[in-house]
Amino acid sequence: MSADLHVHSAHSDGTNTPEEIVKLAKNAGLKTIAITDHDTINGVSCAQEAGKFNGLEVIPGIEFTTEAYGAEIHMLGYFIDIKNITLLQTLDKIQKGRVDRIYKIAEKLRALGLNIDADKIFEIAKNESPGRPHVAKALIAAKEVSTFKEAFDKYIDFNGPAYVSHYKLAPNEAIKLITDAKGIPVLAHPAASDRDEVIPDLIKEGLLGLEVFYPSHRWQQTKKYKDLAKVYGLLITGGTDFHGENSGREIKFGDLTITDNLVEKLKNEYIRRNRS
Ligand code: AMP
Ligand code: FE
Ligand code: FE
Ligand code: ZN
Repeated sequence: MSADLHVHSAHSDGTNTPEEIVKLAKNAGLKTIAITDHDTINGVSCAQEAGKFNGLEVIPGIEFTTEAYGAEIHMLGYFIDIKNITLLQTLDKIQKGRVDRIYKIAEKLRALGLNIDADKIFEIAKNESPGRPHVAKALIAAKEVSTFKEAFDKYIDFNGPAYVSHYKLAPNEAIKLITDAKGIPVLAHPAASDRDEVIPDLIKEGLLGLEVFYPSHRWQQTKKYKDLAKVYGLLITGGTDFHGENSGREIKFGDLTITDNLVEKLKNEYIRRNRS
């Protein structure tokens, strides 16, 4: 039995519903998953309900997109209280920023001569946390590009001509929000952010874990982050960053798992911090 603690549903940029995810995870022989949608917790309760029915443990989670040190830094939060008012209010603000941004991206794309419309993007996203993958899908549907990669490479990558930022928290704000909602903050895919030098600062802000096991980590990186976690006494997590079937990513449940022992440690820390 094993676990996958990084999963996106159709409530952000995944392609599967929480119910479908639970079935897929169960069929792959997993014992535990965490739903970690970008800037939303809307998929958590459905997944938990389906999990109870199917005998799969579903940890409530989130993945915040934050920005600092000239980079995008993703912050995972595990065991968050999804009814926490400050958390919900902040998510509402971030989601409104994401919606405004889609209008701006569509405008930029149209100025570049592309046939694209914000409403088409919202139709594809069908959720409160729309993002660039939905823009990419709309560009493919409009036959302006033929692949996700082309959409990002030509237009919407961080340095692309149609890139637009959106309201984001700083990493320390995300850490505080997660902790105040009783959750455990974990730095997502640290190699992708490429800001290892700020890990000590994030720890001072309350960071409690590192996502050591991640599909794009080479074994040297996995070892480096495992050693860092040991040196700093951080929890270790990992997951596939599953974005669903037909999401353009080949990874599927079971391709990368972590041991139940790591999940136990995460859970014990959550219990220890929230006792009394
Ligand atoms: P957003 O949160 O709207 O800025 O979109 C970020 C999401 O886009 C990430 O979570 C990935 O799922 C996806 N993404 C980012 N860069 C790429 C890329 N180069 N190719 C495909 N998908 C990407
Ligand atoms: Fe994503
Ligand atoms: Fe991420
Ligand atoms: Zn993710």
